[in-house]
Amino acid sequence: MGAGLSENLAEVEQRILAACARCGRRREEVTLLAVTKTFPAEAILEAYELGLREFGENYVQEFEQKAPRVRALDGARFHLIGHLQSNKSRRAGELFDVIQTVDSAKLARRLDALARPLEVMIEVKLSPEEAKAGCAPGELLELIETIRACANLRLTGLMTMPPWSEDAERSRPYFRRLRELAERHGVRGLSMGMSHDLEVAIEEGATMVRVGTALFGRRKRQE
Ligand SMILES: *Cc1c(COP(=O)(O)O)cnc(C)c1O
Repeated sequence: MGAGLSENLAEVEQRILAACARCGRRREEVTLLAVTKTFPAEAILEAYELGLREFGENYVQEFEQKAPRVRALDGARFHLIGHLQSNKSRRAGELFDVIQTVDSAKLARRLDALARPLEVMIEVKLSPEEAKAGCAPGELLELIETIRACANLRLTGLMTMPPWSEDAERSRPYFRRLRELAERHGVRGLSMGMSHDLEVAIEEGATMVRVGTALFGRRKRQE
């Protein structure tokens, strides 16, 4: 962060524009989510000054520390993009505008019970890695139906995180699969693509790319 953010943002914008041009999409179809995990509230304020409005954080407790300084920024929206344990759902529902990582009916019902309107996405687990959170594709329909029956939840998209690889092309089959699932179930938004593979994600239909490193630099603590 610091002096580099505006240059980094210009570079990321160029990459998004070029990817959109390559596949005939409009820039407005893709939202840039600035991922600020591990960076201080100042990083959010600086990004806001540069025009960014959508921010992603991974941990409820970490964002709780920053929230007093940024929560009231006019037009800013905060997305939880890290795994949410249901015992933290109340606090998460108070702090965030969007929970991108709903992956169980239990969590959906807990969020619905907070009795305030909340935008949610479903995190879909597309790789067999044991540790990965997310709803299995085979359970997606049931979870979508559960969420659609929740009066306070508005389902706006699917989100996924492919296994990490230096080679962005390796993410493509996962992004494509997520788009197919969204189309099949009539879900609009696709939150997919990060610093190293955002072009591939945009080519595969991403409506939101989640970018940390390419904007703010490398994190000291890797997630
Ligand atoms: C950290 C993180 C990102 C951003 O990753 P970068 O490689 O730094 O762009 C995106 N999505 C999720 C879920 C993350 O945890």
